[in-house]
Amino acid sequence: LVSRKDHPQDTVVMVGDEPVGNHRKTVVAGPCSVESEEQVRKVAESMKRQGLRLLRGGAFKPRTSPYDFQGLGEEGLRILRRVADEFDLKVVSEIVNPADMELAVKYVDVIQIGARNMQNFELLKAAGSVRTPVFLKRGMSATVEELLFAAEYIVSRGNRQVILCERGIRTYEKWTRNTLDISAVPLLKQESHLPVFVDISHATGRRDILLPVAKAALAAGADGIMVEVHPEPAVALSDAHQQIDIPQFEKLISDLRESGLLS
Ligand code: PEP
Ligand code: MN
Repeated sequence: LVSRKDHPQDTVVMVGDEPVGNHRKTVVAGPCSVESEEQVRKVAESMKRQGLRLLRGGAFKPRTSPYDFQGLGEEGLRILRRVADEFDLKVVSEIVNPADMELAVKYVDVIQIGARNMQNFELLKAAGSVRTPVFLKRGMSATVEELLFAAEYIVSRGNRQVILCERGIRTYEKWTRNTLDISAVPLLKQESHLPVFVDISHATGRRDILLPVAKAALAAGADGIMVEVHPEPAVALSDAHQQIDIPQFEKLISDLRESGLLS
């Protein structure tokens, strides 16, 4: 069902009134974790100014260490919804528990399934049973084919609104957090009709190379990028090293617009 063979036309995922895919380039931006309403509002204001509409933020955080900040849970979703409504934005947020799908659809416009859960088949089935669009990230050790099969789990349950996201894979390279598999972008575009995004923040884990990486992603045919933005990255409760501040975010977007790769 996710293959281009029987479905040559690009799928347009409708995030409320905001279309994603089919030659549009979309930016998903926001903090790694929702920390407070003021924090989210500062990013949202900047997005509104720039005409960007998809606001991300983690409320349920899949952290490597159980002692790290685990997210605000439902309160985080409530904050996202309130701020998004205030600025006419759409909410993208990760869900980690199949039982939370009902809760999720009350608050979010796009359900994110994270790299660590790409093959959580019960979660995929639960996401397939709702009609909210899904942002499905490639597992850090998953092949392109496995990503497509994960998407097939969702679509075969009846939810056709799926966006694929390359976010870097594990290799021996240490100068980036993950290794961006740029070939995955044209491969996924060729094999599937679903929109394809690149998460430039988790792919690199650093802020100094985001512009060329974003350009490469868009030039390779990505329908959009995801980037982590925090009003004060140094004090962020997660991913402090890779998040960009608001001036850096606005510079990144204006540089991409100037390059002609983003409208
Ligand atoms: C995220 O986008 O918040 C995240 C945790 O990314 P990933 O699942 O790709 O590691
Ligand atoms: Mn993060």
